[in-house]
Amino acid sequence: MKIIMLGVPGAGKGTQAKMIADKYHVPHISTGDIFRANIKNGTELGMEAKKYMDQGLLVPDELTVKILLDRVAKNDCENGYVLDGFPRTIPQAEVLDKALAEINDKIDFAINVDVPDENIIRRMGGRRACLSCGATYHVEHIPPKKEGICDACGKELVLRDDDKPETVGNRLDVYHKQTQPLIDFYNAKGILKTVDGTADMKDVFAAIVSILG
Ligand code: ADP
Ligand code: ADP
Ligand code: ZN
Repeated sequence: MKIIMLGVPGAGKGTQAKMIADKYHVPHISTGDIFRANIKNGTELGMEAKKYMDQGLLVPDELTVKILLDRVAKNDCENGYVLDGFPRTIPQAEVLDKALAEINDKIDFAINVDVPDENIIRRMGGRRACLSCGATYHVEHIPPKKEGICDACGKELVLRDDDKPETVGNRLDVYHKQTQPLIDFYNAKGILKTVDGTADMKDVFAAIVSILG
């Protein structure tokens, strides 16, 4: 099963993608997590990506597409995957489609986690991320067991640089200009499914499970 998660930054794509990955035994692939891991390790790719991420801009397609295609070619992707944060532009979606068509394959579902912009600034200020294992929490809605510490790996949680209010506004603008057209793109293919992302995270997941079967 090959799934794409769509939605504004902070809609809950990552939160839901992790639950999907657990239930359906497919890897959760987040291009944002891959970039952050590279930044943390000080790689050349990380340094290049950071220039864009810090401003809330998209990392150029050439860089992003290569990373994603390398990742989905790995053995653990044989039975599918859930993509979180990719594609984010029409050209990225077209490259992915083409790569899949070459192996007689396709995306099964594009899940649009629908949350209005008004809800997002508030959500992002409360997001806390573990840069070690990629787990995500929310200070009010989804708190870790021990404040400031990752349940999964025990490392310290941080407010991401790009989750500060000044950058979140830019990211929403970028979403509406560059990523939102993907909604029509996947709708035209008949695989778009929209869920109400303002609901409780468990209810959002239940809606997704009823779509995936
Ligand atoms: P969020 O989950 O909050 O939307 P991500 O972790 O997916 O954030 O992405 C963080 C940043 O990483 C983006 O703002 C962008 O700069 C970069 N990024 C991640 N995925 C992509 C992509 N597919 N194309 C271009 N840039 C990306
Ligand atoms: P995205 O990957 O789309 O950027 P995340 O999954 O990281 O979004 O979620 C953004 C923030 O909102 C996180 O702090 C997360 O814990 C929180 N969150 C996720 N789903 C919900 C929900 N259904 N209700 C309230 N908060 C949520
Ligand atoms: Zn962790």
